[in-house]
Amino acid sequence: DILLEIENLDLAYDTPRGTLKALDGVGMSIRAGETVAVVGESGSGKSTVALSVMGLLGSEATLSGSIRYQGRELVGMPAEARRLLRGRAIGMVFQDPFTSLNPSLTIGEQVSEPLVFHHGMDKRAALERSIAALGEVGLPDPAALVTVYPHQLSGGMQQRVLIATAIVCDPKVLILDEPTTALDVTVEAQILDLLDRLRRDRGLGMMFITHNLGVVNRIADTVCVLYAGRLIERGAKNAVLGAP
Ligand code: ADP
Ligand code: ADP
Repeated sequence: DILLEIENLDLAYDTPRGTLKALDGVGMSIRAGETVAVVGESGSGKSTVALSVMGLLGSEATLSGSIRYQGRELVGMPAEARRLLRGRAIGMVFQDPFTSLNPSLTIGEQVSEPLVFHHGMDKRAALERSIAALGEVGLPDPAALVTVYPHQLSGGMQQRVLIATAIVCDPKVLILDEPTTALDVTVEAQILDLLDRLRRDRGLGMMFITHNLGVVNRIADTVCVLYAGRLIERGAKNAVLGAP
């Protein structure tokens, strides 16, 4: 039941000052229902791993190695197939809800977009599915919520909308890049509870990027530690962090 398997991933960025090796032989795997925390100091390559899995790297990046989703190789996959898989199979939530939400779309349009875009679903059906997803992430009165704009919502509610957008196509893997860093601690705890519930209810495999060891303790099964683009440690949470 391995959903995602990364092997020997090397990545170099072409920069004005030469080549920067951002990942060097990185490997990790994610099973259904497993939360893998990816930790490491700023610049260690955490976001680069996430972008590699999502297929969202710019042309300045050169990637080699293997990223398999349910046995299918993603490295070198043609862009269109990659785009479909990104929307349908692997959802992503970024750090900052304020910059991730499009201010000119209603909540309904925002959550519906992947369904319309990736599945060609008609807008009415997509809106129905979106309302269900907004309910699943614990937002009150989802049928009324679809007509409001992001600025009318709190940061925590906005992050729930982004999680709804990421799960609306029923992906099996969720990539979360510092999804609670912009939130206060109370809201952070609520979002972690929500993610844990979604993992259990849907059997999602999660890659959770964070620099917060409290968050790792709360949510991770497995911990991967990156240092300067290399995976320096990987194992069960208690083995890596020490028993609580
Ligand atoms: P982290 O998420 O752990 O902070 P990143 O994956 O963002 O680390 O970055 C890893 C390294 O790659 C850093 O040295 C960063 O400056 C560099 N880097 C990231 N993106 C690019 C890019 N598009 N072009 C050039 N260098 C980049
Ligand atoms: P493109 O690279 O052409 O923008 P993407 O695959 O990045 O295509 O996005 C496709 C559509 O899915 C976009 O309209 C985007 O707004 C929407 N979308 C928004 N959030 C997510 C998410 N977390 N996971 C998947 N799709 C998303």
